[in-house]
Amino acid sequence: MKNILRTFVSIAALGTPFSLCAETSSRIVETPLELTFLTGNSNYEFDETWPVEQAAREMTGIHLVLFGANSDDAPKSKSLKNMLEDDTVPDIVGARNLKPFVNEYGPVGAFMGMNELIEKHAPNLNALLKERPEIRSAIQAANGEIYYIPYLPDGKFGRGYFIRQDWLDGLGLKAPENVAELKQVLIAFRDRDPNGNGEQDEIPFFARNWQEMLRLLTLWDGRSTGSDNRHDFYVENGVLKHPYSGENYKEGIRNLSEWYAEGLIDPEIFSRGSKARDQLLSENLGGVTHDWFPSTSLYNTSLKDKIPGFKFSALLPPESVSGRRVAEHRRAQVKPDGWAIGYKNEHPIETIKYFDFWFSEEGRRLSNFGVEGQQYEVVDGQAVFHDDVIHGSEAVNAQLWAVGAQIPVRGYYQDYQYELQWSNDIALEGVNLYDQGDYLLDEYLGVALNEIEQSIFDRYWPRIQSHMLSKQKAWITGKSDVEKDWLEYVETLEIYGFSKVMNMMNSAYKRQYEQG
Ligand code: CA
Repeated sequence: MKNILRTFVSIAALGTPFSLCAETSSRIVETPLELTFLTGNSNYEFDETWPVEQAAREMTGIHLVLFGANSDDAPKSKSLKNMLEDDTVPDIVGARNLKPFVNEYGPVGAFMGMNELIEKHAPNLNALLKERPEIRSAIQAANGEIYYIPYLPDGKFGRGYFIRQDWLDGLGLKAPENVAELKQVLIAFRDRDPNGNGEQDEIPFFARNWQEMLRLLTLWDGRSTGSDNRHDFYVENGVLKHPYSGENYKEGIRNLSEWYAEGLIDPEIFSRGSKARDQLLSENLGGVTHDWFPSTSLYNTSLKDKIPGFKFSALLPPESVSGRRVAEHRRAQVKPDGWAIGYKNEHPIETIKYFDFWFSEEGRRLSNFGVEGQQYEVVDGQAVFHDDVIHGSEAVNAQLWAVGAQIPVRGYYQDYQYELQWSNDIALEGVNLYDQGDYLLDEYLGVALNEIEQSIFDRYWPRIQSHMLSKQKAWITGKSDVEKDWLEYVETLEIYGFSKVMNMMNSAYKRQYEQG
């Protein structure tokens, strides 16, 4: 396929005539202009009748039409790779996880580089990228060009610790401030029957994603990941590292295996699955977890009649053995989702202006809150949701998806205000608690690998990661002993190419983030 792609002619930013309409600042073309659009994911099937899409048409004059919709035989959506193989590239492609795809096939000509287009024709995007250069570094390909406009989430905290405050109160305990106190609280939850049924049936620490247990590694100054992805690299003092190597990791795993053996961690942590939170909270069994603020807080409402006194409160990250408090999970600052310009697009200037529209005040509101007068009103300069949206029978985000807002196959800039308006008080209290200190860690925003680097990664990393995860599970569950295995583990990673990958990743990282 790459041979085919190399024959693509990259069409530079060819100007096409257009005129600005004087009445509204968002108008891009006077005569409506149709641009073909393809989404690579079915989760957010593009719908031209979405009210948000209709409003965008009116404001900008740009009409996105589903690629292939005008011919009888063309399928409505195709895989992105098929699209390249068939050389049927639409004007605009939008998809979840688009970044690796466009950063691989953009440089060989399948998508347009946007650096110059943004500089000349996209004032909102240009200002944003100047203000937050790390976003530019994160999205650009190995050759320094930008090939996609991302979905940028907003807000800081994602997941945090939650604890049964009513259990603490019942046992006369205070919220644990450090790792030693946390262990004592978990022991008390295990031994002292806080649910009061006369049985030792409590599960002190649980998680509906077992990987959230690995957040506890930070209590021994280890890490579980450096990004929004599991088991990812992390950045420390400008150097890229991997969490599953080094002494702090070994120490953390040794302690987790002890906690597991002592029944402080759910014995079914690896198998209970995504219903763990529902099950263990509604059966009055679970004590502490690590999970999303908004959805975890909601149990205080849904269980208040079933479990008298139920109070599941956010807990500050306990201090580690060296006295550090860290919140390892944060909302990603930039997603690999978004949209790109196909190489055959004959209206690149109008297209970049259209992309830029979604980063203007008007476009950002439209993509976040829906249509003014339908989902929200502007009050004192702020978009405020209608009551029937806030208190609707469906979740607010589901209502917004249904009208075409908050759709990440569109490159857009989320506004945290949209979520604040429907978060409950306990979620907000939790987020405020975490916001009082400087607990967040630097986020690893990813690197774009060139062809050689990618081949090194693909050759070595899958085997390394698979070995890391299988040893990790064996150690935590006590099937193997981390102290005894450690030297052999380090040697095996070396034989599998760990240093080769880390050196390559660090040179790619430096190229991407330390230029200029
Ligand atoms: Ca009990």
